Amino acid sequence: MKQIQHLINGTSVAATSGQTKPVYNPATGEQTAELGLASVADVDAAVASSVAAAAEWSRQSIARRTKLMYTFRNLVVANTKEIAARLTAEHGKVLSDAEGEVMRGIENIEYACGIAELLKGSYSSNASTGVDVHTVRQSLGVVAGITPFNFPVMVPLWTIPNAIAAGNAYILKPSERDPSAPMFLAELFHEAGLPEGVLNVVQGDKVAVDRLLEHPDVDAVSFVGSTAIARYVYETGTRNGKRVQALGGAKNHMIVLPDAEIGVAADAAVSAAFGSAGERCMAVSVLVAVGEVADPLLAAIRERMEKLTVGDGTKPDSEMGPLITGEHRDRVADYIGQGEADGAAILIDGRQQNFEGDGYFLAPTLIDNVTTDMSVYTDEIFGPVLSVVRVDSYHDGLKLIQENRWGNGAAIFTRDGGAARAFQEDVEAGMVGINVPIPVPVGYHSFGGWNDSLFGDTTMYGPEGVKFFTRPKVITSRWPDPGTSSVDLGFPRND
Ligand code: NAD
Repeated sequence: MKQIQHLINGTSVAATSGQTKPVYNPATGEQTAELGLASVADVDAAVASSVAAAAEWSRQSIARRTKLMYTFRNLVVANTKEIAARLTAEHGKVLSDAEGEVMRGIENIEYACGIAELLKGSYSSNASTGVDVHTVRQSLGVVAGITPFNFPVMVPLWTIPNAIAAGNAYILKPSERDPSAPMFLAELFHEAGLPEGVLNVVQGDKVAVDRLLEHPDVDAVSFVGSTAIARYVYETGTRNGKRVQALGGAKNHMIVLPDAEIGVAADAAVSAAFGSAGERCMAVSVLVAVGEVADPLLAAIRERMEKLTVGDGTKPDSEMGPLITGEHRDRVADYIGQGEADGAAILIDGRQQNFEGDGYFLAPTLIDNVTTDMSVYTDEIFGPVLSVVRVDSYHDGLKLIQENRWGNGAAIFTRDGGAARAFQEDVEAGMVGINVPIPVPVGYHSFGGWNDSLFGDTTMYGPEGVKFFTRPKVITSRWPDPGTSSVDLGFPRND
């Protein structure tokens, strides 16, 4: 059985806890590897290596750090298919989707290639007589990233390039469910010439996360995962004096106005609800149909859903792969049952499609007449289930979003520019799509939701990412003439 280990100081290291977890291929249900889980001592070894590396790395010139980022970027581009293959083998998403994920991750590496410009400080000459002031941004030291299963490549790349380019040492704790693709990224970083210890990877679960959250030498923690854990990570990390950003779960609404182009809206809803089996934090999980648009829109959606091919992500004709585990597949299926029991109309029931073999498949489901008290509405299901809420007006639809506990993404489909503009101004969400169902910002903007979708002050990657991984220092200097120097107990005035 393949063993997946830590990567500490550039070397593959076995876990010392004696605890392991199986890693599966979700398309077949077969165990493909065994993952050694970190003990507290393993995390401490990674942190010690990172502390030593950060001291050296932060002193490397910007030119050297930039060149490394370019080399890494080129290696990731050259290995896109291999990364995607490793990703699909443990996550299950179809290969084309996995390649898309790698490409979105590359955007973040490319942004970090501009670190020279991003770290450029500001300078005020003669701010007071003979006094100059300048601001620089310096690295924090040792930073940790804890990432979810659903984007095992893109989410680590949201933070690692900016953090390392800015001069930090980084410890990655990837998801236990699909650790091979992020591990491969770390190997490519070393192939690019990254000094040992600047990027360490510890495999593990809560034990590893808790140690990272309490270790005095970890300066910042960047987390992406479910809301309950995000809140816990934020509260624990900040209580221990760390800078923390913690992105949580979501329930993303797509509101369709009566004037929308039905075909465009149906294509968007089906793509955004069922891509990656709905296991995306920006998936559309609630369709809000306004007025008379509901019936023709649902007819168009059903037509498209009936043509979807669900199967092993490595097969070229598969459009949607399995869910991440059998347990999660069963949990999603239970939600469909709860919706039915609560009185919603199951228009297409994914539980009725049978699949050969032991893969964790569940076909797409469409649920109509959902109300806001049903668990299919209140909970993040994180599977291929689209709930439809019918409302009478745009304002009723907007109210749903405003009252929802999350606020990651929200989309509007309309041909009315005035309505779209009002929506972008008013909606309680961090990322808004206008005729765009999954508005994940490009790498030079930043990603993050509102309300229970994000704990912390800064969003991820882009300018906010650089801000998170650096701290400003302001230097005020004067070269006084000894002849004019005197004691003055007054507060310094800028004359
Ligand atoms: P998860 O919260 O179960 O796990 C995320 C990370 O936390 C993993 O590395 C895991 O090992 C660790 N973890 C799990 N339980 C823990 C505990 N009790 N204490 C400490 N650490 C723990 O999330 P997941 O199932 O891997 O990913 C899916 C979730 O992530 C969904 O809720 C999804 O919406 C969310 N997500 C959010 C974003 C975003 O940008 N807001 C992006 C991707 C995924």
